[in-house]
Amino acid sequence: MWSSMGVFDKARSASHLGEPTGRPYICLACDASFDLQYHACPDCGGYDIRRAKWVE
Ligand SMILES: [Zn+2]
Repeated sequence: MWSSMGVFDKARSASHLGEPTGRPYICLACDASFDLQYHACPDCGGYDIRRAKWVE
């Protein structure tokens, strides 16, 4: 049950990002991805940087 849900989540996140091997952090506002967790998004200035490590 848990593992199948994990796969589901992984696939959904990957398609959402458009790049399966994306970086560990994403901006929820503009979907930019980063190697590190910025305090604010360099792209759009948003503060919704979220960890997306499970995408990998
Ligand atoms: Zn952004």
